[in-house]
Amino acid sequence: MAKYTPMMQQYMDTKAQVPDALLFFRLGDFYELFFDDAVAAARELEITLTGRAGGSDEKIPMCGVPHHSAENYILRLVEKGYKVAICDQVEDASAAKGIVRREIVRVVTPGTVMESKALQEKANLYLAAVTAKDGAYGLAFCDLSTGELSVVEHEDEQAMFDEMMRFQPAEVVVPAGEEQSEYALTIKELLRTVLTAAGEKTHRQDRASEALLGHFGVISVDSFGLAQHPLAISAAGMLLTYLLSTQKRSLGHLKMPSYITSDEYMTLDSFSRRNLELIETLRDKSKHGALLGLLDETVTAMGGRLLRRFVERPLANKRRIEERLDSVEELHDHLLLREDVRQLLNLVYDLERLVARVAYGSANARDLQAIGSSLSILPDLKERLGGTAATLLTSIAEGIVDFAPLVDLIERAVVDEPPVSVRDGGVIRDGFDPYLDTLKQASREGKRWIANLEAAEREKTGIKSLKVGFNKVFGYYIEVSRANVQYVPDTYERKQTLTNGERYVTPELKEKESLILEAEEKLIDLEYQTFVKVRDEVASWLANIQLAAESIALVDVLQSLATVSSKRRYVRPEIMTDDRIEIIEGRHPVVEAMLKGEPFVANDTVLDNGSNQISLITGPNMAGKSTYMRQVALIVLLAQIGSFVPADRAQIGIVDRVFTRIGASDDLAGGQSTFMVEMVELANILHHATPKSLIILDEIGRGTSTFDGISIAQAVVEFLHENPQVGAKTLFATHYHELTTFTESFAGVRHYSTHVQEKGEGIVFLRKILPQAADRSYGIQVAKLAGLPQEVLARAREILAELEQGKSDVRPTGYAQPDPLGGAMILREEPVAAAQVETEDEGRSVAPEAVQKGKKRAGK
Ligand code: ADP
Repeated sequence: MAKYTPMMQQYMDTKAQVPDALLFFRLGDFYELFFDDAVAAARELEITLTGRAGGSDEKIPMCGVPHHSAENYILRLVEKGYKVAICDQVEDASAAKGIVRREIVRVVTPGTVMESKALQEKANLYLAAVTAKDGAYGLAFCDLSTGELSVVEHEDEQAMFDEMMRFQPAEVVVPAGEEQSEYALTIKELLRTVLTAAGEKTHRQDRASEALLGHFGVISVDSFGLAQHPLAISAAGMLLTYLLSTQKRSLGHLKMPSYITSDEYMTLDSFSRRNLELIETLRDKSKHGALLGLLDETVTAMGGRLLRRFVERPLANKRRIEERLDSVEELHDHLLLREDVRQLLNLVYDLERLVARVAYGSANARDLQAIGSSLSILPDLKERLGGTAATLLTSIAEGIVDFAPLVDLIERAVVDEPPVSVRDGGVIRDGFDPYLDTLKQASREGKRWIANLEAAEREKTGIKSLKVGFNKVFGYYIEVSRANVQYVPDTYERKQTLTNGERYVTPELKEKESLILEAEEKLIDLEYQTFVKVRDEVASWLANIQLAAESIALVDVLQSLATVSSKRRYVRPEIMTDDRIEIIEGRHPVVEAMLKGEPFVANDTVLDNGSNQISLITGPNMAGKSTYMRQVALIVLLAQIGSFVPADRAQIGIVDRVFTRIGASDDLAGGQSTFMVEMVELANILHHATPKSLIILDEIGRGTSTFDGISIAQAVVEFLHENPQVGAKTLFATHYHELTTFTESFAGVRHYSTHVQEKGEGIVFLRKILPQAADRSYGIQVAKLAGLPQEVLARAREILAELEQGKSDVRPTGYAQPDPLGGAMILREEPVAAAQVETEDEGRSVAPEAVQKGKKRAGK
């Protein structure tokens, strides 16, 4: 082994503790990186790579960044998926015998960023942990910047992936040794996230629960309600251990793990969340055009984050939905109340993250001030909400505790415009601490004396150009130009000679100077200590502030829903426990908002488990089929979030899951054919739908040949219609008219079409859904609208006429007999066999396992 200098040896020992992180090693005013770390950092940060002699024969590659700007560099590396270990000098260099002691003080990782400049205001940043046992999974999710800690178990791999997709963690911790397991690799690929191996054995049941019990100071996991959830404990304990080992501080702001109960919520798989464009649009991933963007009238960051969680996880529990609706109605109906609430919330900062910084020990004086002023609106908020008729609002009001002592403390302690740094003084207000005041007075008086000195000495000596100045090396001095040196009195001691003058001090000046410097040194030290005391006092209010932050976020979300409902003329839905959905004059919330000028055409909907189970909607492309179907899904979703809905009237029987298979989405990310993606999503639906589900199917079978497509579509309708375990409410759009004939005798199928009017050779879309099947597809007219050349259109008309004459040839009547495809009928009895169909572009059979695997990848 090469021999290194003692300092380099210290580096090597430190680096061995964090082999998977880039080590920022503090040397004086710089953080230096060495060896491979230096090469990587120089490349990623575009900084110069140099070398340093370190005792070995060859120069050691090295690069560095100034410590005062290190944060930016660290965050840039972390954003690129690196982990960065910060190693500081932990003793005073002058006090050190030999080399200064250095220790890793924190490891910054993609899932543990606390710095506000790297956090999105209205989005959470999650660190996840997952453990697996016998095909079941334990999951834990933590946002370190807010203290949220949620856990859940899933018995089904797809459900586990869906949960992961919902949280979109920036980093996923897996048990040591399982980084290469199939589930871990799939998570990594699906989420494009960073995988981290946990400490050895930290996921083991005994270790994990020990870690949790110790941290939260409880004696049994029953306190968290996790006694029946060993895998959740294992994931949460492993995650906690990882956090403590990287953050190296107490993390008192972490909330106790809360279990995500699924029967309270509607299940939304990742396909549907994407297809319905809840958070971002499919095409350009923008917020504009997505449901969340429309609903977001929140005024606080906390409200923004909570609204997103609401949208991603609608409720399925009538009581809770009604509770929210009551509050939204109250805020909707009382404009003045809403305005007052909005105005108050406008004054609230991101309490959740501020208080997390207090607990973390990184809050500065400005943060405390922001906490104080945010809390100071609470009495008014309490009063406003207390007088309302909605129980959720009044219970929020009742839960708001009196923060007056804390607000008062912060106001008395912190100056009006405190500096960013808390270590350089200037933070504590006069009058807060008598001793501090004395020191300040001494320093101020000394400075005033010096300020007056120049005038006094000029007068005394008659030297007009005499100056009093200060520099770091000599301290205060009196400067006299060469020409006047002769007039200098004897009491002046010469200190420094300049080219055209001399600098002097006097005994009195020296005395004042040491008084000032001493006072200032003490002052800075004491101010810092005083500040930390105040911060600790704020930390002791932690749990209460976190509760207040949750209340504020909830009120903000409710007012946001009320504001949107009022602005866009939404109505309160009636929440039912039967399986009926009835919407009068429903509108698509987002399309309606985006239409410029032309009015949105409202449509009715009736769906139930009986004669209205399946709506088969036919009509040409562009006529509004998919808008209509999405609108139904979104209205149900809005209702179950607790929002008013875009309709004249709506009765919503609570839905347990919404499934969507929409259009040939151009999602080819997994390298799969469109048709394959479609079939995978379809298989998922047919496996999991229940009588309480709502299914949206748009153009099933479009990606394959017509006969295949029709056959599959027909088999799916039959399956949904005749299978009593399913019976799910379904909206099914198709341009295969043939289907309408085949399903005429089905008791639960209703036929609808989009109204189009013929005008000469063209058509006009009226966007109205009519209770009858379309008689023709108008494909040629739509093609005309799209600007196909006249000759092509004319020839197409000719061919169509011929085909229509020999219509029976076109009908795929052979589908129910032994057919060349073989898949459709099998699909009915054994849904997995959807996998047996041929993909058009690959032309070969795909085994069911391949579909199951594909399923994992499909959600990108
Ligand atoms: P399809 O699914 O039948 O091909 P779309 O639902 O995609 O048709 O609708 C095409 C376009 O027509 C939409 O982008 C929207 O701009 C407009 N549109 C659809 N439904 C309505 C409606 N009810 N009122 C007004 N415009 C609508």
